Amino acid sequence: MDQKTYNPYVSAQTQFDNVADQIGLDNPTRDLLREPSREFHITIPVKMDDGTAKVFKGYRIQHNDARGPAKGGIRFHPQETVDTIRALSMWMTWKCAVVDIPLGGAKGGIICDPRTLSMAEQERLCRGYVRQLAKVMGPNFDVPAPDVMTNAQHMLWMMDEYETIQGSHAPGTITGKPVGMGGSLGRTEATGYGVIYTLREALKALNIDITSTSASIQGFGNVAEHAARLFTKLGGTVIAVSCWDNEDKKSYTYRNLNGIDIEKLASIKNSFGSIDKQKAMDLGLELLDGDEWIAQDVDILLPCALENQITPATLEKISDKVKVICEGANGPTTPDSDEIIKAKNIFVIPDFLCNAGGVTCSYFEQVQCNMNYFWPKEEVLEKLDQKMTSAFHAVHELSQSKNLYMRDAAYVIAINRVAEAVKLRGWI
Ligand code: NAD
Repeated sequence: MDQKTYNPYVSAQTQFDNVADQIGLDNPTRDLLREPSREFHITIPVKMDDGTAKVFKGYRIQHNDARGPAKGGIRFHPQETVDTIRALSMWMTWKCAVVDIPLGGAKGGIICDPRTLSMAEQERLCRGYVRQLAKVMGPNFDVPAPDVMTNAQHMLWMMDEYETIQGSHAPGTITGKPVGMGGSLGRTEATGYGVIYTLREALKALNIDITSTSASIQGFGNVAEHAARLFTKLGGTVIAVSCWDNEDKKSYTYRNLNGIDIEKLASIKNSFGSIDKQKAMDLGLELLDGDEWIAQDVDILLPCALENQITPATLEKISDKVKVICEGANGPTTPDSDEIIKAKNIFVIPDFLCNAGGVTCSYFEQVQCNMNYFWPKEEVLEKLDQKMTSAFHAVHELSQSKNLYMRDAAYVIAINRVAEAVKLRGWI
């Protein structure tokens, strides 16, 4: 992988500055929107199972709430950094704005490795996080959700702690909860399905028949697995999947040039999205180096794992066959790669549009919690498809009419909506 290091916050600000210049955004609005509004840096003391205590560092960063309560996931990751969370909080603001849901942007994280913590330790960590932040979260203020290495159980513990502190039910304070406990049907699939709804529309616009396409995916977690499932259901072929192997502390790419059976692959993954190597080989999959996913001779690349994976260095390995990059992950492409992607004439579905299905369904979850009435899965997915499809077309039409790169067109729509909210409120 590329040796140059990229700071996602610098990337997020660079992308913002470029578009702010293009649309002639006034300086006060620019100053407001290029940084988070509020940051909370916390320490969380946790009693470990062996009787010792350990202190974890955590963050909640609220970028902007002009269009509605701040919204964004909480990550558990040993290498989490405050700048990554700042960048992610900014991207959340643009994400909610581009799909036009009445929410702002936030993100949270705890520096920890849940793979080395017992369930009881994880529960205490979740509850400790909420105890530190209960005063600055809530259905009308800031609404967390799952993200990398956090899941519905973590969200439920957090909600329970919040309700205990508040002394009342408040299921709309957190999304991604288990179905039956305030969760929405369809939330598990929502981000990955949303990725493919936008891909389906992009392929239509490019006059490419999805059934003739092949794809290579980085990641096999929540986003990637469900994207792969819907892509294959629509007739596409996934030939390669890359993911992290925690035993060997490196990533591998699993390949079958005739197409991977996604159902079977899902049956040999663990809850952190890692695949059992031996079982994969038993299924007849080739085992390649982790970075090889990007070098495959495919029509579509789906980076659905991490930031900074598509760089000028890794782009050198991309096949001439690639027509679409579908950014399921947040910030998978560095800003210095965009010119190269344009020159290669590759169509990009930018991250904060492509992966907005998760937050859109989280918004539906909040709406259902507020009503205390839950929709059937088909209804949730139909509403999700409508939102994602119309957001894709709004961005695509602007990109066509103004001859803008898809990422810039998405930013123009999102920044204009947030800037308008800031002005209408009279903040600037
Ligand atoms: P996850 O924890 O479920 O899965 C992450 C996957 O990435 C795992 O399969 C893991 O093995 C893989 N991975 C980690 N390091 C890797 C490496 N070096 N090489 C190859 N694969 C590697 O996470 P997720 O929820 O699927 O999120 C993936 C991305 O999508 C993140 O950028 C996240 O911020 C973004 N995202 C998630 C959601 C959501 O609803 N879950 C919504 C929007 C955006």
